[in-house]
Amino acid sequence: MNAVDDKTVVKDYFNATGFDRWRRIYGTEQVNKVQLDIRKGHQQTVDTVMDWLKADGNLRGLSVCDAGCGVGSLSIPLAQEGAMVYGSDISEKMVAEAYDRAKVFLGPNNNISFSAQDLESIAGKYHTVICLDVLIHYPQEDAARMISHLCSMAESRLILSFAPKTLALSVLKKIGELFPGPSKTTRAYQHRETDVVRILQDNGFSIQRQGMTSTRFYYSRLLEATRG
Ligand code: SAM
Repeated sequence: MNAVDDKTVVKDYFNATGFDRWRRIYGTEQVNKVQLDIRKGHQQTVDTVMDWLKADGNLRGLSVCDAGCGVGSLSIPLAQEGAMVYGSDISEKMVAEAYDRAKVFLGPNNNISFSAQDLESIAGKYHTVICLDVLIHYPQEDAARMISHLCSMAESRLILSFAPKTLALSVLKKIGELFPGPSKTTRAYQHRETDVVRILQDNGFSIQRQGMTSTRFYYSRLLEATRG
């Protein structure tokens, strides 16, 4: 499957069944046990990013691009801390939900601007570019191109999360593929950390902080890389 096809599949998924599934997972309403586990895992990833950025003490007024922002799970707390946030997502439905949630949490005149856009078509420069749990939807070559593009927009820092490719997780994924659930309609791609780090280094970035969230059904490796 080529990049265009992958993107079309992902976009269609997050505008339809994927939208309903992930809107609930990233919300507060009742969900099943697996979804609850994913909700908690994802929240840990968001909390780690927020802890890092708050610890730096310069969030107020900082320009941050949240690429593949989903329903705004990170954009909204960032804006609450005073960052100037640009959130975008390939799915119109996800962005519309993020926009509505931002209005509820921050009021109508807030410091987030949203747009429905593929992350590879975003232009502009931001102090910090963040892309959480998006690369899982793309194979290695696409992910490499996407990371390079995100690097080109980041004046100072890029924060990325991805599903790490480890032997234990590959076995788990194989078992998962034997029992595909009805809503697992997109492929999940894992990435080797050494590959991701090499791409970041080739773009002039070096790793500063690292995190890992693993619950029963959610695995996400988090890297903060800065220029130079
Ligand atoms: N980053 C958000 C978070 O952590 O709450 C959402 C993560 S969700 C698993 C993946 C999101 O990536 C979906 O909202 C999907 O529409 C978006 N996405 C997938 N491919 C994308 C692309 N090429 N450009 C922009 N967004 C994309």
